[in-house]
Amino acid sequence: MQNNYNQTTTIPSPSYVCEENLLLNNLKLLKYVQDEADVNILLALKGFALKSTFDLCRKYLKGCCASGLNEALLAYEEFKGEVHTYSPAFKPSEFPQIVDISNHIVFNSFAQLDLYKDSVKPNNSLGLRINPEYSSVEVDLYNPCGVYSRLGITKDEFLKGIKSYPESLHLISGLHFHALCEQNLDVLEAVFEKFEENFGEYFQNLKWLNFGGGHHITRVDYDVEGLIKFLKNVRSKYPHLKIYLEPGEAVGWKTGYLEATVLDIVHNGIDIVILDASAECHMPDTLAMPYKAEIRGASSDASEKKYSYRLGGNTCLAGDIIGDYSFDKPLNIGDKIIFEDMIHYTMVKTTTFNGVNLPSIVLKRSDNSFQVVTNFGYNDFKSRI
Ligand SMILES: *Cc1c(COP(=O)(O)O)cnc(C)c1O
Repeated sequence: MQNNYNQTTTIPSPSYVCEENLLLNNLKLLKYVQDEADVNILLALKGFALKSTFDLCRKYLKGCCASGLNEALLAYEEFKGEVHTYSPAFKPSEFPQIVDISNHIVFNSFAQLDLYKDSVKPNNSLGLRINPEYSSVEVDLYNPCGVYSRLGITKDEFLKGIKSYPESLHLISGLHFHALCEQNLDVLEAVFEKFEENFGEYFQNLKWLNFGGGHHITRVDYDVEGLIKFLKNVRSKYPHLKIYLEPGEAVGWKTGYLEATVLDIVHNGIDIVILDASAECHMPDTLAMPYKAEIRGASSDASEKKYSYRLGGNTCLAGDIIGDYSFDKPLNIGDKIIFEDMIHYTMVKTTTFNGVNLPSIVLKRSDNSFQVVTNFGYNDFKSRI
């Protein structure tokens, strides 16, 4: 069988392939910001949770930010750095364990802070998540500050909260906001200005501020030097405050790919490729965002190259379509298709819709060897339902 587009490998199909040397470049850049600006950078597990890389990540980042118990456990047991846990609402059954393993606990409302204030321990540093009411995220699904957002406390609700729960300001050591998504420094500066205007009067009694994630620091056009300058200014204006950033996507940005195989090519007005990877199961953002993944060696403009195909997955969902692409040579059954930049978010959002097996997880080591870290089978599927 001909293999037109890719290097031949012996890894299973489909596989997410995380490339260690690319990850290392991202980690080094993040550490550079951390050291130059004297801030603390945490890995947001939501966007990148490949635990077999944590030995590496730990050398560069201070710890993890977790949303809920399972991520907090992963942070505590596998990453072993600082654990910062936020949840839109903590569950009573899970909170005692969160208390035991978290350095910072960030609440989404005064009511949650009040509910749990007597369950925390002296080593937990408590904070509240603020809605800075400034955001320029265009896609509602990813906009934490959109209309009627449930994430974070608005200025009005904050003023009500400190009246209803007068002791709450004495309980907290920090304020947290997360208002960015794939954005550059200009948006962080605008959000901070609004945050400072609305909440600056409370800074004097705090120990830390957390500027959340969404900082696209490792993207080539990100203003890294500008970020360092901005953070240094904040640090010199408020020298008593520790500053935290918690990017997820920026850690895993462009660190690997999803490799899939052509299983069949069917015809219905156009040529339609059936892959062993699925938009619904393995690349949910292609449907939810929506966005079109890049394919190595192909054009995402279906009419640019000579041979055009619609790529679809092997579930029974009619809309399980990855998109229309064009290629220089005709595709054949058995060809490999490589979807670029599939390590952040994609892997952690993966489900087992229709019982389709999860892709194996493979680490491409810096010496170019492949390590198959995890293989999934029926038992994994069974344990999820
Ligand atoms: C999603 C999220 C992050 C990480 O965001 P990225 O866009 O992946 O950098 C950080 N903090 C919180 C609270 C989040 O919800």
